[in-house]
Amino acid sequence: MTTASEVIAGAPKNLDLVASAMRPLDIPRASRIFVNRNLRLDKIEMVGFDMDYTLALYNQPRIEELSMRATLHKLVTAKGYPEAILGLTYDPMLAVRGLVVDRINGNIFKPDRYGFPGRARHGLANIDRERAGELYQRERTRLSNRRYAWIDSLFALPEAVLYACLVDYFDHHELPSKPDYGTMWEHIRECIDLAHRDGSIKTIVGDDLAGFVERDDALAETLHKFRSSGKRLFLLTNSAWDYTSRVMSYLLDRTPARGGEPSPYPSWRHYFDVIVVSAGKPEFFTEEHPFVALDASGEPLAKTSTGPFQRGRIYQGGNIKDFQERARASGDRVLFVGDHIYGDMLRSRKSSNWRTAMVLQELEHEVTTHDRIRPDLSRLDRLDAELIHLDGELNERQVALRSLQKIEDHPSTDEPVSAAKRTIKEAIEKLRRDLRSAAAQHRSLESTIDDAFNPYWGPIFREGYEVSKFGEQVEAYACVYTSRVSNFRFYSPMQYFRGPRDRMPHER
Ligand SMILES: [Mg+2]
Repeated sequence: MTTASEVIAGAPKNLDLVASAMRPLDIPRASRIFVNRNLRLDKIEMVGFDMDYTLALYNQPRIEELSMRATLHKLVTAKGYPEAILGLTYDPMLAVRGLVVDRINGNIFKPDRYGFPGRARHGLANIDRERAGELYQRERTRLSNRRYAWIDSLFALPEAVLYACLVDYFDHHELPSKPDYGTMWEHIRECIDLAHRDGSIKTIVGDDLAGFVERDDALAETLHKFRSSGKRLFLLTNSAWDYTSRVMSYLLDRTPARGGEPSPYPSWRHYFDVIVVSAGKPEFFTEEHPFVALDASGEPLAKTSTGPFQRGRIYQGGNIKDFQERARASGDRVLFVGDHIYGDMLRSRKSSNWRTAMVLQELEHEVTTHDRIRPDLSRLDRLDAELIHLDGELNERQVALRSLQKIEDHPSTDEPVSAAKRTIKEAIEKLRRDLRSAAAQHRSLESTIDDAFNPYWGPIFREGYEVSKFGEQVEAYACVYTSRVSNFRFYSPMQYFRGPRDRMPHER
């Protein structure tokens, strides 16, 4: 794949010039900003960023494997699981965002936009369509039921991978006692939280940032470009101060010792007008926790802090109402960039009129795969049309055959119907053969296409004929979406992002 950075490689150092010379259509598709709802950047006065998986993109397979290993270790030490599980292998393809865990049956499935379960798996095995139908289609599957757990962030993927591996492990081993599927899920949730809380994960990541966090060299220029157009920036992260400061410094501080270009900003903190850590999203948007100001070592200066925010100071906690007042920001003039569909996008859209941009790390893979298999996708469309046509033809012949049958049963004329019947029957047989062959081609092509995205789950944003539940949420709550924050540098800070005109089927 040609990345946007490769396109501009060798170009003059001043990225602004290159970026402003690029028309949106020249931007590689994997680096574009896609629009659900119109967004005028010239009306935006403040741009806020989440940190984890938004400004800081993690090496996903590595961090997932680390989370899985840390959690397995806790399951053995804290929950008495057999030591053999420490040898389980990790396959990152086993989970994607938008899956649902059925903790009663030990299954995982991918719902479509209506919440209707499509593909389903039990442990490491596929559940065939017939069985999945029996399980989930006899009555309405209510995803809000406690029985189901929604995997909606990159952070949660290892939980789903672990669940699949452990369900498979316990199904295939005779043991004196086994946890049931529901308890197994509770244990995984508990142990992964424990591994995060006691520092098992963040300490290792913090000590090897280069191994776990991708440093996007274009990030600094992107933030600088927003700032030079007069926009104020803020950071709003759930991570604590010590971790935030290490990661942000790794992402943005350039020192000659690290071989970086000298930066006009003495430290990463100078890019932001307001810095909020341990924000506790989604509660930041729904509750009224106070802001607490911290000193440089992360110690609270007082129990609460009031008055306008002071540049260069670190704040902890807080809530959106006070934020808007103290930052003198009017909601519709704020653009918030995050990666979490619930904590960043849905909650902020429902509790405020902040505009939203969603970072979807997987988008680069989805878009390049989509572009690579475009001929197959066109062939699938043609097969769809052929199936509809053959079905129509078959129905028509069957109606004709029934009419001939009636004539034969009540002969009022002496028309020779048997020859006509024979011809129609032959045509029906041929249509049935063609239909079977087209349907088989359709099935095989569809599975080739799905495998290109993910052999277990297919594309993230689709489930069969429908947009997936996850795709629907992205459409509903993100005004725009893109694969990484630095893609904004290809667009003018005054860009008018125009969404497609929303149309009902009869208007298309
Ligand atoms: Mg995040």
